Amino acid sequence: MAVILGEWDQRPIAISVKRNCLTISIDGPVDADVFSYDMAGRMWTAYLDQISYRRGLDGKMIAKWRLEGQQRDRRWLPQAEALEIEEQARQQIRGLFEAITSEQATLNTPLPQNATPLFDRVIAFDRERSIRDSGQYFEIYKPVGILPPDQYMAVVLQATEGCSFNACTFCDFYRDRRFRIKSEAEFREHVEAVKDFLGEGMSLRRTIFLGDANSLVVPTKRLITLFDVVGDTLDVEALGGIYAFLDGFSGEKKTTDDYAELYKRGLTRVYIGMESGSDRLLEFLNKPGRTDQAVQAVRAMKSAGVAVGIIVLLGAGGHEYSKDHINETARAINAMKLDLDDIVYFSELLISEGMQYAQDAFAANLHPMTHEDRLEQQRAIEKRLKFSRGGGTPHISRYDIREFVY
Ligand code: SF4
Repeated sequence: MAVILGEWDQRPIAISVKRNCLTISIDGPVDADVFSYDMAGRMWTAYLDQISYRRGLDGKMIAKWRLEGQQRDRRWLPQAEALEIEEQARQQIRGLFEAITSEQATLNTPLPQNATPLFDRVIAFDRERSIRDSGQYFEIYKPVGILPPDQYMAVVLQATEGCSFNACTFCDFYRDRRFRIKSEAEFREHVEAVKDFLGEGMSLRRTIFLGDANSLVVPTKRLITLFDVVGDTLDVEALGGIYAFLDGFSGEKKTTDDYAELYKRGLTRVYIGMESGSDRLLEFLNKPGRTDQAVQAVRAMKSAGVAVGIIVLLGAGGHEYSKDHINETARAINAMKLDLDDIVYFSELLISEGMQYAQDAFAANLHPMTHEDRLEQQRAIEKRLKFSRGGGTPHISRYDIREFVY
């Protein structure tokens, strides 16, 4: 990595040229503006006027900020505003690059050779190019519904589309599509198209995520073929392995040997939307599968060397289910024998109008939990968790689905 310091228009600047991204910081009167780009010249993040922005590969942009003494806030920008932020950033980068080449900006060391084509790509990524890029994205992908927070920088490959259940009352991520498994040929074409689309930007990606919601329900023999397609096309090891969701448990049950075959092909962690350890609550949520099946599946994965990420839904079932939810969720997680390689995510229930959950909760006269109640619920579950000293403690983290960006 090369970090070049300098000055432009009496403003300190820093240019960081890494193997996988270009980051430029330009000091201002109050704060520095900071921009980062992938190696294809796509904006990745920006920090402008004390607001941080994150651009997804689909061109959508989320803005986050915090006012003094207040909670962090966020909003998704309309397309025109997102393009305007990209353009503002691009103009600053262009101005800086012109100043460097005309020696109006001073640098403590010359730019490394690979920086010039990178600046050129960023400057060429104008409004039209950005619109074309997101158009190409939508030709390759069905909208990516959701990813675990540690997978936002993955290369998503849609081996399947949709969710094979699509019936949980609190989830509408995949209501716009029928579940289907891609044929080997179609998947190969998709992987090639993703590789082409990301281009040099591939280097910024940290893992491979096999979408959509439930790709691991695909029968093992067929799944192995799909894993082999990934292995033929991408460097799985260099990209940090393959990750996927397994949500609900039905159809063919995978054994430790099945997971061992997938592990050999790079399967590194499986994320399980367990939601709760309470079967009574799972039934209320119309979630397929029961807790013991989730525990068995986790044990099979862990015995094969595959790590897990367990997702728990805070606030589900309101106060009426809370005690059961706390006790049974802790019991299930303890039975999974998680260790240092694993993650437990706590995600708050988010209900939008028209969701079946809202109607069911109303009909059952449930009392909803506040944000504070849910935090308390998380603390109560965590207090009951026990992990073996030898294996270490899994990472425990929050999961806010409103911040999902791919
Ligand atoms: S199984 Fe998962 S993805 Fe499918 S409907 Fe339920 S919560 Fe949504």
